[in-house]
Amino acid sequence: MSAEWDIQADVVVVGFGAAGACAALEAAAAGCSVLVLERFTGGGATALSGGIVYAGGGTPQQRAAGVSDSAEAMLGYLRTEVGDVVPARTLREFCDGSVAMLAWLESHGVPFEGSLCPDKTSYPTNRHYLYYSGSEVSARDAAPPAPRGHRTRGRGTSGGLLFARLAAAVRAAGVQIVPQTAVVRLITADGRVTGVECRSLHGVPWWAAAAHRVLHGVARKPYLYAPKLGRVMHRPVGWLERRHGRTLLVGADRGVVVAAGGFGANRPMLRAHAPSARGGLPLATPGDDGSGVRLGTGAGGAAALLDRVSVWRFLSPPSALLRGVLVDASGKRVCDESRYGAAIGDEIVRRGGRAWLLADRATVAAARSQLRGSTLWFQWLQAWNLLTFGRVSADTVPAVAVRAGVDPGGLAATVAAYNTVAYGKGADPAGKPADLLSPQDQPPYSLIDLSVRPRLMYPAPVLTLGGLVADPDTGQVLRPDGTAVPGLYAAGRSAVGLCSRSYVSGLSIADCVFSGRRAGRHAAAARESGGRKLPPSRSDESRCGCAASAGTRTAPCW
Ligand SMILES: Cc1cc2nc3c(=O)[nH]c(=O)nc-3n(C[C@H](O)[C@H](O)[C@H](O)COP(=O)(O)OP(=O)(O)OC[C@H]3O[C@@H](n4cnc5c(N)ncnc54)[C@H](O)[C@@H]3O)c2cc1C
Repeated sequence: MSAEWDIQADVVVVGFGAAGACAALEAAAAGCSVLVLERFTGGGATALSGGIVYAGGGTPQQRAAGVSDSAEAMLGYLRTEVGDVVPARTLREFCDGSVAMLAWLESHGVPFEGSLCPDKTSYPTNRHYLYYSGSEVSARDAAPPAPRGHRTRGRGTSGGLLFARLAAAVRAAGVQIVPQTAVVRLITADGRVTGVECRSLHGVPWWAAAAHRVLHGVARKPYLYAPKLGRVMHRPVGWLERRHGRTLLVGADRGVVVAAGGFGANRPMLRAHAPSARGGLPLATPGDDGSGVRLGTGAGGAAALLDRVSVWRFLSPPSALLRGVLVDASGKRVCDESRYGAAIGDEIVRRGGRAWLLADRATVAAARSQLRGSTLWFQWLQAWNLLTFGRVSADTVPAVAVRAGVDPGGLAATVAAYNTVAYGKGADPAGKPADLLSPQDQPPYSLIDLSVRPRLMYPAPVLTLGGLVADPDTGQVLRPDGTAVPGLYAAGRSAVGLCSRSYVSGLSIADCVFSGRRAGRHAAAARESGGRKLPPSRSDESRCGCAASAGTRTAPCW
């Protein structure tokens, strides 16, 4: 199909989150004209995230904290998480380039700090910005452990700051950002992706565009934390798009990079591909509607690992709970309690979604005393709720088992075996480090309910990990037969990436940076498809694309 483009650029990026921003930065650095199309105002899940970036191999922050690490050790650990979801050479490239990747982020204004968190936690407080964000200590036989969770230095959940800095860098690089424009279809000519069709609010009555922006902004957080309410609040946004959206055709001379996030907000897709996520709270924005995957498969691309979702169950903070014993309904031990929350969540889901933590009086008291000081507000709320309402107690282990609905004989045997190990008679068969093995023998005993089911104050977050299959060297989308779809690239959670088998904190954003940069670089280097285009990006025309349009209709300008 030959199209009369409304706007044209060398590289068109679909979605303005971490992956899209990184792709745009690389393509612009290569001298290309770059256009970013974003359904809302940008940021996506990235801006709501914790801003943790998984990096290691001796970063300046690790060195400042006195941590010794190497690319080899990082590779050794990540092999246990990543498996064969990407080729071994790709994982090595990621680890070897990790120090440089963090420096690249810093060069674009994203700040990090080497203040090491002393506790195992799901997210450090505002005093600490480097921590063990995975199961590194549990996997100590595979590789020397090191803290590699680099939290963007900013108060609260600092993904907002990470994205704000990347967005500023993208604008400074002269990239045109076209917000309130959803890509609905890829356009191909002779099998090559040459452009995209959008529904855009550009040029609609001002009040409709303003209402769309404001209503999306207001609904975005409820959508994440109280999805039912968020969906109702977000309905008018969809209505405005349907009622006022206009067709916009955008040509891409060198390539289209799909970086439109995951599919956590698409309930039919979740039900079809990841039924194990039922009962969890999708960590998704309205943009995570699976359109990235749909766009790619619509152009002949393959999708994979859509059944892989990460379900999180964190025991710490408070870290005292790591001394407890995690059991299933039969009373059997689930796993090493000090593993990362997504690994624990995986194990719980594998056992039908039901699990409890056995903790004695001393453990519960220590956990209560840690609530203040080691938690941010949302962690405090969850831990307080668990210790207050999510727990049953009794004077004996069999009696507490009966109260919770756990097999009493199974639980008694598990606790007896655990205490034997904890009293120093051997290594923990589940692999928990010795300093966390503390006998649970002081009544009353509590069973804290960690089951994965809908719970207002203790939801189980769910992150989709699968997506389009991308060439590990170029980021080009591959067809089911392994050949590339010319002109089409995918990155971030729209694609299969480093975290698609198993997530540890920071690995998704790190993968967005890695895969986004790769796609941007390779799209920029691709041969031109022969159309007219905007001149290369220039910072002096950074905010407004109107001045840059050459030969095609004027680009939208916000
Ligand atoms: C609360 C929370 C905390 C998290 N914490 C961390 C963390 O600390 N570290 C970590 O590694 N991961 C974390 N994650 C996961 C991580 O944030 C995401 O996996 C990652 O940011 C995804 O980035 P992305 O660029 O692929 O997608 P996004 O950041 O979601 O960006 C995609 C963009 O594409 C837009 N879009 C979608 N469809 C279209 C379309 N058809 N046309 C145009 N635009 C479109 C969306 O509006 C969105 O702005 C967290 C997630 C959440 C929700």
